[in-house]
Amino acid sequence: MQVNTIVVGQGLCGTWLSYWLRQAGHSFLLIDEYRPDSASQVASGVINPVTGRSLANTWMAETLLPFAMEAYTAIGAITGINCIHSSEILHCFPSRQMEDAFKKKLPALPEYLANVEDTNHWHSMLHFHYGLGAIRPALLINLQALLAGWRQLLTNEHLLLTEKFNIDQMKLTADGVQYGGIAAERIIFCNGLSAMDYRYFDRLPFSSNKGEALLLEIDALPADRIYKKGISLVPFPYYGKQANDRIFWAGSTYENEFTVNGPTHGFRTSVEATLKDWLKPSFQIIDHLAAIRPATVERRPFVGMHPWFPRIGLLNGMGTKGCSLAPWFGKQLADHIVDAQPIQPEASLDRFSRLLQP
Ligand SMILES: Cc1cc2nc3c(=O)[nH]c(=O)nc-3n(C[C@H](O)[C@H](O)[C@H](O)COP(=O)(O)OP(=O)(O)OC[C@H]3O[C@@H](n4cnc5c(N)ncnc54)[C@H](O)[C@@H]3O)c2cc1C
Repeated sequence: MQVNTIVVGQGLCGTWLSYWLRQAGHSFLLIDEYRPDSASQVASGVINPVTGRSLANTWMAETLLPFAMEAYTAIGAITGINCIHSSEILHCFPSRQMEDAFKKKLPALPEYLANVEDTNHWHSMLHFHYGLGAIRPALLINLQALLAGWRQLLTNEHLLLTEKFNIDQMKLTADGVQYGGIAAERIIFCNGLSAMDYRYFDRLPFSSNKGEALLLEIDALPADRIYKKGISLVPFPYYGKQANDRIFWAGSTYENEFTVNGPTHGFRTSVEATLKDWLKPSFQIIDHLAAIRPATVERRPFVGMHPWFPRIGLLNGMGTKGCSLAPWFGKQLADHIVDAQPIQPEASLDRFSRLLQP
């Protein structure tokens, strides 16, 4: 079998790269071993225009949010999945300092931050001692539905090989790569964590970052927004076979050092206690998830072809922002492959040319 490009991995990165390649009419084969504990399967799917406790403007938010809205709407039209909508984050300030920080930022970011007038309404559902603020628009992606829908489309079009890719069986040839019976001009790794150990990439400043989440069933909390008080509560209706707007995702942690990859008892008990102090409606825990984010030390992704092995490429390192970065940088990489367009210098693999020299 001969294709232009082999793509390895169908998380957010592989989904978006393959989407843009398909749009360009470029031939490819995607190889993915489905893993329910991959970052994209566990993520809550939020695109937040402000970041962290300091409420800093998210990198490129003014470009990435409108781009994401258009791109997810377009992929949704092809897959028949309504996979994005605009939402709001109801921020219950956990401390007086957080309330002050929000009020200080408000005049500088009126496009994303707002006061909440009707705080009384929320006292019937939530315990909070300081005020409330709103962050909007936040975008919410139905990630699990999108990944499954795209997988189905690739299967229908015979573009997906469902197996574990083994780098030891890949051969670089004079004019491309050979993998089993597949010959291609290039191969692009979108396989998250597992690319970190490949000899081509193991010198890159990756920084794996673990996150856990509980899935809850809550009867009396409106599923029309995201709630935040230290942890986030995110509507997660596409868990299981049928849409259910009583399911919420509660998390997360951001651990750079961890000894256990999977769910931990400590996380469960601490989040359960936080929720009991915060939520007035009762809730039931229905699942506990954990995954490791493929992140980078300098918090910028790794995009492009290897400076010394130009048949091998990478789309990785999306960290906590895969939902907004993967569509944008997936498009840049597809344009680079198809039309030799340049990749944004802050994200391009070329910045590691010296480090990656064999
Ligand atoms: C708890 C948690 C919450 C998060 N919440 C958000 C959020 O709200 N918003 C946001 O923007 N981001 C969020 N993220 C981050 C986001 O999930 C990641 O940035 C993104 O999913 C990374 O996507 P990826 O495609 O690079 O990697 P992955 O999702 O890890 O995908 C890699 C794919 O490659 C496959 N694969 C791996 N090895 C092989 C192999 N050898 N052969 C074949 N296939 C292979 C895997 O099965 C998988 O399908 C969250 C992450 C976590 C852990």
